[in-house]
Amino acid sequence: MTEDQMGLNETLDQKMLIIKSFLEHLEYTLGKDKYSATKYDRFNALAYAVRDKLVERWLDTQQAYYNSDNKRVYYISMEFLMGRTLGNSLINLGMWDDFQEALDSLGENYFEETLDEEQDAGLGNGGLGRLAACFLDSMATMSIPAYGYGIRYEYGIFRQHIADGAQMEIPDNWLRYRNPWELDRQEHLHTVKFYGRVITTFDKNGRLLREWVDTEDVMAMAFDTPIPGYQTHSVNTLRLWTAKSSREFDLKFFNEGNYIRAVEKKMQSETISKVLYPADNVIEGKELRFKQEYFLASATVHDVIYRFKKKHSDMKKLPEKVAIQLNDTHPTLAIPELMRVLIDLHNMEWEDAWDITRKTFAYTNHTILPEALEQWPVWFFEQILPRHLQIVYEINEYFLKEIRERFPGDAERLSRMSIVEEHWERKIRMAHLAIVGSHSVNGVAALHTEILKNELFRDFYEMYPERFNNKTNGITQRRWLKMSNPLLSSLIDDYIGSGWTRNLYELEKLRAIASDPEFLERWQQTKRRNKESLCRYILQHNQIEVDPESLFDVQVKRIHEYKRQLLNVLHIITLFNRIKDNPKADVVPRTFIFAGKAAPAYATAKLIIRLINAVAAVVNRDPDVAGRIKVVFLANYGVTLAEKIFPASDLSEQISTAGTEASGTGNMKFALNGALTIGTLDGANIEIMEEVGRENIFIFGMTAAEVAELRARGYNPREYYNNNRELRRVLDMIASGYFSPWAPELFTPLTESLLNLGDHYMLLADYAAYVACQQEVGELFRRKDEWARQAILNCAGMGKFSSDRTIDQYAREIWGIKPVDILPGAVELQRH
Ligand SMILES: *Cc1c(COP(=O)(O)O)cnc(C)c1O
Repeated sequence: MTEDQMGLNETLDQKMLIIKSFLEHLEYTLGKDKYSATKYDRFNALAYAVRDKLVERWLDTQQAYYNSDNKRVYYISMEFLMGRTLGNSLINLGMWDDFQEALDSLGENYFEETLDEEQDAGLGNGGLGRLAACFLDSMATMSIPAYGYGIRYEYGIFRQHIADGAQMEIPDNWLRYRNPWELDRQEHLHTVKFYGRVITTFDKNGRLLREWVDTEDVMAMAFDTPIPGYQTHSVNTLRLWTAKSSREFDLKFFNEGNYIRAVEKKMQSETISKVLYPADNVIEGKELRFKQEYFLASATVHDVIYRFKKKHSDMKKLPEKVAIQLNDTHPTLAIPELMRVLIDLHNMEWEDAWDITRKTFAYTNHTILPEALEQWPVWFFEQILPRHLQIVYEINEYFLKEIRERFPGDAERLSRMSIVEEHWERKIRMAHLAIVGSHSVNGVAALHTEILKNELFRDFYEMYPERFNNKTNGITQRRWLKMSNPLLSSLIDDYIGSGWTRNLYELEKLRAIASDPEFLERWQQTKRRNKESLCRYILQHNQIEVDPESLFDVQVKRIHEYKRQLLNVLHIITLFNRIKDNPKADVVPRTFIFAGKAAPAYATAKLIIRLINAVAAVVNRDPDVAGRIKVVFLANYGVTLAEKIFPASDLSEQISTAGTEASGTGNMKFALNGALTIGTLDGANIEIMEEVGRENIFIFGMTAAEVAELRARGYNPREYYNNNRELRRVLDMIASGYFSPWAPELFTPLTESLLNLGDHYMLLADYAAYVACQQEVGELFRRKDEWARQAILNCAGMGKFSSDRTIDQYAREIWGIKPVDILPGAVELQRH
């Protein structure tokens, strides 16, 4: 046989093995044959076949981590917005083509249709949860010994339907039809205590002991999901906790003789992991949420210590072997929990415990919006976690003493910095606790970190300047280009090779061919085909016909006032008026595409969705406007929908009020897929501008400094209304019911908030600059080759925004962690 023939035989064998594994899972794991199998059974069988491939590497990896005894990192997050797993696993395993070929031999489109059966794992709200997911991919790819820790919510982020233009929330019961990716680890159980009281005793040496007694206990049970790296043998772990009632709990209540009441109690204790709170960038001060946060913190701390103790007995070595990264303040209770474990359970002295704790923890801040900063009322902190409140008070006492020594006589500073907010209702400020209890505090983009240092946490920066550092967010190019945009990926591969999948800086090589006519031509064809795909999706889901030649002007993200979807709408209505005034007006045809969920309790955000849909209804059916502008709101934005939208976008809307968006990551996904950005100098937009060049991005509006200055001077939105005719007309139309004749006052709360309630996010101040900038966008879009050239330069400048770069910086600068080489077959070797 020739080498070619041998290669051919190998692929044939490989294909046969895949089909065999798939059919065996269908039959033996799921109990179905080809007659009774549903499409969802097919997905499950395929998922199990892929999981088998992951498990071998997973065991090798965990063994290698155990043997190497390198320092490990624990990334604790209340959210992991994973999306689908099957396609991504195949990409990372390098088995996409083999599986596609094998499955497609069973029927036309068999592979793609099967992939499309998978539900999103939507255990997150938006950017923060998606960042955690991208970090898992990068850490696995870089063979960093890392574990994600979170909650296995039974209900993830709600599914959004649009009915009569309004958002409807449907519960996301994602576990109903099994989750093939997880393995339950019934042996990994930890007891999490709540309520009760603290008693003080003394040991035989007269040392003060605190005992937390009469608690209500809940068990945390582990479910593990394998996280494969790309082109590497390593497979890391995402461990999610589910709440189970404890045996003692069962006995206690069942013995009271009231069976139904006992079952009710049991169910209540299991509600802790029931549902994800659906608010993004705002806190819901609910008791259940507080319990969720402690449940995650406590179970994780116990697990970390359990694993540490398998190899070590000296707790003082903990920071040499363990780094814990807190994704926002949500898991901050892990700090007093570790203190409690060290002091109450390991009989350590306060100073030693505190030293260990601070060296172990690091905190990432994600927002400066005041409504998103967690503060828990002391009264219910005390009820639910009485021992932890004592510890927090003691931490605070030492901390205030330190401030007094550093800044004698500065009472104002003491009350500003205290972990306990004393005004009105007493509250625990979780961000202060996180800063005091960590050795590192990081923001997620350069501007954001500067704001933390100079404004929000200024006092803390003066005291602990060495703790503050920046880690600009990133995204994984494996999911957000290679998997979601196969056409562009293979075009890029054709010209510069595929090294960019592991080193995104290689995209710089595109700069040299940005004006190459053949490359330009193929680039444009690719974008065109991706836009055609999205057109089909829009037609199917919204019954709107969209012209793929039009400029796809896209704003997809959570609906929030600070993100200013409303400013985008003001521009749309402005264009609408210009066309109505002059039906022959020369306006570049545009399709405005929106998607995003509003928190169910956020009335203004929900009203913005209704306005977008109301404007769409008017604009899309107006004959004067036909062929110029269309407006589309795509329901149920999530990872899977995002994967369809970014590849088809021309223009990326990143228009938050400067100083409000900590980083943004949607901005990076757009640019990576060859969209140009229209944006403010906010979050990572600034760094994107630095990378792609000021001349290749549309920047408009006030800077963060100008926003602050105008606010200090006294901002009067009415001035802008009075002085701009187009703006006035747009606002009057909304206020008078032009878009809601059936309910003329429906949208007045929106115009009220702009005109009479202070326009907190300063839409009116940025309106004129935004509209003018959009005019330039339109003009550039007519020059197709120049547009494409700039889009290529945007893609070429995205190297910095790989989450691989972000994770490399966390690993070196915060965690002090090195990659571990994984030997294939390590487990196998040991068995022999
Ligand atoms: C990237 C992403 C986000 C974050 O988008 P921003 O524009 O940065 O707010 C939110 N949701 C999903 C599904 C994402 O993929």
